[in-house]
Amino acid sequence: MIMGENGMKKTVAIDGPAGAGKSTIAKLAAEKLGYIYIDTGAMYRAVAWKVIDAGVEKTDGNIVETAQKLDVRLRSIGGAVRVFADDTDVTESIRTPEVTALVSKVAQLGPVREKMVELQRAMAKDGGVVMDGRDIASNVLPNADVKIFLTASIEERTRRRWKEMKAKGYDGTMEQLREEIIARDKADSERAISPLVRVPEAALLDTTGMTIEEVVQKVMELCGDGR
Ligand code: C5P
Repeated sequence: MIMGENGMKKTVAIDGPAGAGKSTIAKLAAEKLGYIYIDTGAMYRAVAWKVIDAGVEKTDGNIVETAQKLDVRLRSIGGAVRVFADDTDVTESIRTPEVTALVSKVAQLGPVREKMVELQRAMAKDGGVVMDGRDIASNVLPNADVKIFLTASIEERTRRRWKEMKAKGYDGTMEQLREEIIARDKADSERAISPLVRVPEAALLDTTGMTIEEVVQKVMELCGDGR
């Protein structure tokens, strides 16, 4: 188990654009470190899922109200992290194109972010976490021990997402998927509150052309464990 200088387990922040492989890498690195993996994107997705499920009009007011009433929780079940919106396991249903299309609108609202960030900080308070998202190093955990900005070319990110979505029966074109990724990155980078940024102290890890194993190895080195 890797410890920080203060003898506590470390906090590891991984930010980056859509489709960079953050969740795959963060999950594997957390397993190797014996840490907990926290997927913050899943939390915003759970709110978007609930708005769609409730069938309410997708106004800012309705989205904020839904978020405020919703109990969003990440639970470790049998070694895997499952996402809950109140009592519903939404782990799979938050990955649909419909949720993906709404999530950036949900995530730009101040009151939604305040609630999620508070939960995220509470989960990280004792260290021993690998947290991935867009504003982890810049806002959620500005004192994180390790900060990584994970990215890849738009072509590679589209290819990776395409493979993942095809396996789930997605019937759109690759060009559509590319446009969706570009639009989401633009919305996430240009929003007023806690946009996606690379803080200067974050290590830049461009994974274009790298295998998953190579990226995990690099992350482990950055965490101070090069085994
Ligand atoms: O990581 P993932 O692609 O699942 O994130 C879904 C969306 O949630 C992002 O496009 C972004 O709008 C939002 N998000 C965010 N802040 C985070 C994590 C995700 O705004 N820390």
